[in-house]
Amino acid sequence: MKKSFLLFALVCLLLSPLSHAAASTPKAYNDRSLIYLTFDDGPHRQTGALLDVLKKHKVKATFFILGNNIQGNERMLQRIVAEGHLIALHGMTHDRHKFYRTPTTAVREMQAVQKLVLQVTGVKTNIVRTPYGSDPYMTAAHRQAMTKAGFQMWDWNVDSLDYRYKTDNRRVQNQVFARLNANYKANVASIILTHDHSITPTALDYILRHSKKRGYEFRTLTGIKNPHNFFNKWR
Ligand SMILES: [Zn+2]
Repeated sequence: MKKSFLLFALVCLLLSPLSHAAASTPKAYNDRSLIYLTFDDGPHRQTGALLDVLKKHKVKATFFILGNNIQGNERMLQRIVAEGHLIALHGMTHDRHKFYRTPTTAVREMQAVQKLVLQVTGVKTNIVRTPYGSDPYMTAAHRQAMTKAGFQMWDWNVDSLDYRYKTDNRRVQNQVFARLNANYKANVASIILTHDHSITPTALDYILRHSKKRGYEFRTLTGIKNPHNFFNKWR
């Protein structure tokens, strides 16, 4: 008994530096085993149910907040922060005519939601996703203005199509895994687009369970010094 314990301790001692090194090796943002899960358009009345699923699977996500949806949902916004998720910005109106009218209108909407989020949560974030994604509305002048104002812009490369399929969980799940597989083959990380108002907790639970089984790790869009947009048109 004593001997086997000593042997066990020796093995642990020998293995620990190795496992430690492996655990602390930072993964590149474009590591194909990484998933950046994102939710747009919240906070929303369904956000709480989605947070419950994320907590169950110990997954942290990035929430792109719509300024006009904050009022009345302040506690939900605070809960997102309290549970360790990353808060990011999605503008105020979600009206493409208003948002993209000039480079200045786009920047002003992001600054307005940035200020509201700071007031409600105490968190100042500069990570943004523009309404409907940057293509085709963000001109070179829009992009320059956004960068000059200090914002980091992110699109996605896995569109869950949850806004189209709604409660048809099977189709959402199939769409996500088809795109995950394509990105894995193309050797890039996956940024999944979902919406607080569309993806069901059941579909989210399925996606998290099965992607973890396949060995994917989840990250938030934070600490990335060299923002890279994986947006593509072939959804
Ligand atoms: Zn949106």
